[in-house]
Amino acid sequence: MSFVTRRVGVMGGTFDPIHHGHLVAASEVAAKFALDEVVFVPTGQPYHKAGKTVSDKEHRYLMTVIATASNPRFTVSRADIDRPGETYTVDTLRELSEAYGEDTELFFITGADALTQIINWKNVDEMFSMAHFVGVTRPGHELDIEGLPMQAVSLLQIPALAISSTDCRARVQDGLPVWYLVPDGVVQYIAKHELYRK
Ligand code: ATP
Ligand code: MG
Repeated sequence: MSFVTRRVGVMGGTFDPIHHGHLVAASEVAAKFALDEVVFVPTGQPYHKAGKTVSDKEHRYLMTVIATASNPRFTVSRADIDRPGETYTVDTLRELSEAYGEDTELFFITGADALTQIINWKNVDEMFSMAHFVGVTRPGHELDIEGLPMQAVSLLQIPALAISSTDCRARVQDGLPVWYLVPDGVVQYIAKHELYRK
């Protein structure tokens, strides 16, 4: 017999860079689902972004650590960046369920954009058996939930934060500020390592 004693959110992302949209989403899901912890998992080689230039994984990992360091419930996992090859969510969940053990219930947090592609993901049935899925909406991304097994998926509206990593990168490239869109330490990290310049 096993008892669930820990509820853990899993927030996967490229985090190139991590921004306040990600952090608010994690915080909202944690509050709504009474999570003990949210583990941020920067992707290794994101398969859906193959061909696009993504910053070095160590930069993305360190920015995620900096952004989450002050929150006692937020942690960062190297599971995806240390696993060779492309990142698939099913592998992430397998690794984390193994690491956290049977007494932990996982909640996979994902944006509406990704959730609507979920039915095309690899091993979707196995994924739904390993975690409860929480789809978060953000401005400009309507949720199309047709075809999703609703008992395995919850939806949560996040206070409007029209921030995206794409926009943050474009702003840095154009010499515009990203203060208050990303945590202060991440602004400084981007400047120090000259990320997202032309
Ligand atoms: P990019 O613009 O490069 O695609 P992104 O801002 O979407 O980056 P990701 O690292 O791809 O950031 O996002 C990780 C997860 O966080 C995804 O599931 C995404 O949908 C979600 N997310 C991103 N921005 C927000 C936001 N402002 N509010 C809520 N969820 C978000
Ligand atoms: Mg995205």
